[in-house]
Amino acid sequence: MGKVSELWLTCGGILLMLCVPSVFGWGAQGHFAICKMAQGFLTEDALTEVQALLPEYADGELAAVCSWPDEFRKLMPWSTALHFVDQPDSSCNYEYCRDCHDTDGNKDRCVTGAIYNYTDQLQLGFHKLSSEMNYNLTEALMFVSHFFGDVHQPLHAGFLGDSGGNTIIVSWYQNETNLHKVWDDKIIETSLQTFHNSDLSSLIQAIQSKISGVWFTESLSWRNCTSDSLACPDPYASESSELACKFAYKDVTQGAALGDEYFLSCLPVVEKRLAQAGVRLAATLNRIFSSQLYQSHKIECPTPSTYLYDSI
Ligand SMILES: [Zn+2]
Repeated sequence: MGKVSELWLTCGGILLMLCVPSVFGWGAQGHFAICKMAQGFLTEDALTEVQALLPEYADGELAAVCSWPDEFRKLMPWSTALHFVDQPDSSCNYEYCRDCHDTDGNKDRCVTGAIYNYTDQLQLGFHKLSSEMNYNLTEALMFVSHFFGDVHQPLHAGFLGDSGGNTIIVSWYQNETNLHKVWDDKIIETSLQTFHNSDLSSLIQAIQSKISGVWFTESLSWRNCTSDSLACPDPYASESSELACKFAYKDVTQGAALGDEYFLSCLPVVEKRLAQAGVRLAATLNRIFSSQLYQSHKIECPTPSTYLYDSI
């Protein structure tokens, strides 16, 4: 167990309360909502395994740990590249072999690579198939749950040149911020204030009722994974990339003033992405913690790939 893990196990509960939500990924509320919904879709077996892996302070709630990779990102600088997968500027299509690398060009170090990596670790651990078994499966669960959220945030598959909207300064109603933060936090915060009396559980219930209502038929296909694969994050990143072009970047230039029109056109996208992340995270955890053995993802990129990393 690394230093970060020891620190976290020692004082995680206290630090968690003191931490300010990071801009890396949906804000804490978005990640909480995704994991809260996901837990409701777990099979009995998967729920038992998930709760056994959760740290004690989570009190059986997956949602309590889903912002952990953001909160401790500064203590895990090696993990920074795992939160997103940016693409060449003006490219609205994601390609794993082209896009999944860190700034040093190390393959598989991006959000989709991280999902393949940590889902594999969890399955190997659950079926006791790893010869070494030196993975920290609690951390693997917390990474997977967080990265399912990140890969559904459209600007986590944005453009390299503006760091997924981070360098595009905009005003959000009266406040200056950047486009990435608008999608991480601001749309959700404004929705909470405008429609939910600042009550996150009300927003979660509203999305849950859409999953069992207007989105029910399509939600059945959200959980699909190709053939007998364990995890299928590539289509999620492709969707995010398309949504980034179609909604997040659309008509937004440096210094743009964003308000009602932008908020109301993008809110339905944000709500559906939170829903899809929750449904898909649950479906993947249900596959991981089942008696069936699913295929690990085999990446056929021109250069060799090694994606079973823990920490460096
Ligand atoms: Zn993140």
